[in-house]
Parts: sequence; structure tokens; C-alpha cells
Amino acid sequence: MSERRALVVGNWKMNLDFVEAVHLTQQMGVLLRHEPAGYVDVLVAPPFVDLRSVASVLESERIPVGLCAQHVNDHESGAHTGETSISMLTRLGVATFLVGHSERRTHYGMSDDVVGATLLAVVRAAQRAILCVGEDLEVREAGEHGEFVTDQLESAIRALSPAQRELVTVAYEPLWAIGTGRSATDEEVREMAQVMREVLSRLDMSDGRLLYGGSINAENASELIGQGVDGFLVGGASLKAESFVAILRAVDDCYAELR
Ligand code: PEP
Repeated sequence: MSERRALVVGNWKMNLDFVEAVHLTQQMGVLLRHEPAGYVDVLVAPPFVDLRSVASVLESERIPVGLCAQHVNDHESGAHTGETSISMLTRLGVATFLVGHSERRTHYGMSDDVVGATLLAVVRAAQRAILCVGEDLEVREAGEHGEFVTDQLESAIRALSPAQRELVTVAYEPLWAIGTGRSATDEEVREMAQVMREVLSRLDMSDGRLLYGGSINAENASELIGQGVDGFLVGGASLKAESFVAILRAVDDCYAELR
């Protein structure tokens, strides 16, 4: 019998002010109280300015959802205008950090070196990280996606000690599937899950959970969860309680069947 639990993370990106965020959190709480997703660990990644309000609702209403940061700076403090540190976020109840989301890499110049430094800073602070990797359409069409993602994984993880690696979950998010409505197919997810599990095994991370992200909804979630991944990183569909909780249920049902 498998004791493995799934992980689903809702990335709200730059959406929802704190009033809207509180409302969404309360709605999620109502749906989850009615029908809990017992085999799924659930995180949400609100905008930073919403974190305190969302944390209050999660705590006061005992909603079984944790907080994740969408991004973080790799420095401890100092002259980094507009940036936010790991300790500032942990004080607000964040215990997991997205590192290297493709929107940070593509739109804000986050290089592989900065991704590596940020990952190291997070695990050095004994916090959990979700390392995001994935190829763009050009790389996919050239058939170089396996190699590309392998390089991204190795360059970020190489510097970590075995204990630090245990704090890292990897999310495969092909750029062409993010926010496009065109999810990767079962076969594409299966192929990449296999490639990535081989890399993770070489890096002594065989026990780590592997997520997929890119246009996930309740329908494709139940198909893709059987393709070698342990859960999802969800963007658009996490902005409505009904669609996010429907994904949690789809994953939960699949895990319940495995017991
Ligand atoms: C994401 O931004 O991580 C993501 C997967 O977005 P979406 O679900 O909207 O494709």
C-alpha cells in the first residue's frame, strides 16, 4: 500500500488584492471543510502583499492549506530595492518557496546562476523549495527538451548537500503549456517524468516529489496524475475556489484508489 501523498500548489501570480485573496481563501475553506482532500498536501502562493491576510484566515479557520512564496531574493538583507528576503517571508508563515518560475526566468532575467543561488539560500535556511524547470517551444521543437531540463536540474541542484536536496521538490513546467490552455499530453508528461526521475535518481533524490504545471484543470488532472508525477503547480485554475478544489478532488480520488 502506498503512503505517498500528492502535492498541489496554487500560484496566484500577480492576481487578487488582499480583500479578494481573503475571499478566495474563505471559499476554499468552506469547500475543503465539506469534503477534505485527505491524500493531498495543498499550498497556495499569493502575492506577497496578501500573505498576512491569507495566513490569518488559514489559521483562524483551521484550513489545511500551507503558504508558498512565488519568488524570493537570495540575499539576507540590504540594498535590494523592491525585493523580499527569506526571513521576512518565513515570519509571515511561508515555509515553501517557488524558485526559478519561468516567468521570473523569462521576464525578469533570472539566470541559472541566480536560480542556483536562490535555491541554495532557501535550503540553507532549512526551508522547502519548489524548483521550476521547463523548456520553451523552440527547444521542444528541436527535440532538445530532455537535455535542456537535465541541464537546468543539474546546474541548480549540484551544489546542494544530500540533506539540502531532501528539501527540494521539482516542478516540470514547459513554457508552451503555461497559461496557454494547451497542457502537455499524457505521453509528453510521461516521457519527461521518466527523464527527470533518472536525473533525480543520479542526484540521490529518488524519493522527491515531481510536479507538473501547465494549463491544469480538473479534467486533465485525473489523467496526468497517472503519468509519473506526484501533483501539480496550478496557475489560472487556482484563482477560483471551485476549479482549484475540483483539481484537489481529482488528485485525491486517484490517490485514494491506490491505497
Ligand atoms: C504556472 O504559472 O505555474 C502555471 C502552471 O500556470 P497555468 O496553470 O495557468 O498554466
